[in-house]
Amino acid sequence: MIRIDGSTGEGGGQILRTALSLSLCTGQAFRIERIRARRRRPGLQPQHLAAVQAAAAIGQARVQGAEAGSGTLEFAPGPVRPGNYRFDIGTAGSTTLVLQTVLPPLMLAAAPSRVAIEGGTHNPMAPPFEFLQHAWRPLIERMGPRLALQLERPGFYPAGGGLITAAIEPVARLAPLQLDERGPVHALQAEILLCHLPRHIAERERSILQRAFDIPETQIRIRIDDTAPGPGNAVSLFVASEHVTEVFTAIGRRGLPAEKVAGQVVTAAREYLSADVPVGRHLADQLLLPLALAGEGRFATLPPSRHTTTNITIIRQFLDIDIRCEAIDSRRWQVHMQR
Ligand code: ATP
Repeated sequence: MIRIDGSTGEGGGQILRTALSLSLCTGQAFRIERIRARRRRPGLQPQHLAAVQAAAAIGQARVQGAEAGSGTLEFAPGPVRPGNYRFDIGTAGSTTLVLQTVLPPLMLAAAPSRVAIEGGTHNPMAPPFEFLQHAWRPLIERMGPRLALQLERPGFYPAGGGLITAAIEPVARLAPLQLDERGPVHALQAEILLCHLPRHIAERERSILQRAFDIPETQIRIRIDDTAPGPGNAVSLFVASEHVTEVFTAIGRRGLPAEKVAGQVVTAAREYLSADVPVGRHLADQLLLPLALAGEGRFATLPPSRHTTTNITIIRQFLDIDIRCEAIDSRRWQVHMQR
């Protein structure tokens, strides 16, 4: 049984999710202690509990400690069973993080699957749906599997009630991915999602993006969607380059002026554009697991975040793989892995 210390590095939920995914992919059981020890409210919160339950369902696992607030969990997987699944987080917890937990084993399963997850679709500190759809999914598809993702209904904190679906066509083995260059930027576009909030919020965000990047108004879509159960706002900037599309997103919240929400997107995108790398900070930590499962790959990125270094530590506990992070210069790094 693999023993995992949940307080390692970042000490957050990603340690648990990576362990669940890799346990299902490799058939190795694990025990994790001090779950999310470095978070304000440690232990299993609804989103993490939903990830455990989802992983247990698709992997027919034996589980101990899957209770709200639990700091310890034991997970012994059985064979992965592709099929039709529906999971409900029950709060505004992130649906995309639960989906990313079960996708790796389902992408390598013996038959296609469909997964529906209810909860939050646009959460701070988690990949918003547009990021998954336009940045992460295309790179996963380059590795072989087919993934059809749908945002059926947005869901924001605190109301939740959003819905995402995924149709997964698996492959027997993931192909390696190499992303050394970004190439020239072909297009900058943006989408501003607004649910049950006044339109001037989106218009103010649009003018910040226009001013920062000189984007024509026609390339910034304001999407009003009042099917969400509660109010919410998300600003997404799509940077389409020759070799990759990156997505930078910020989530509005009460008390944070619209200009600051859009400003967060501008800051993150500028840092990425000036470093001239293909892979941004968030995409970097989310590509590690698929690349490690492929057994080799590499990408150039920004200096590694703590999520990245922590994720590497956990991946090494499950897979016999050499993962290196090396600085190319002060703004650019290369992540390289090989079995
Ligand atoms: P906690 O640590 O409280 O348990 P958590 O379970 O939500 O929180 P983390 O361990 O912090 O998760 O992991 C969050 C994940 O979300 C990371 O993979 C990170 O790269 C990703 N992420 C955060 N913000 C964004 C963003 N704006 N765009 C894309 N991905 C994001």
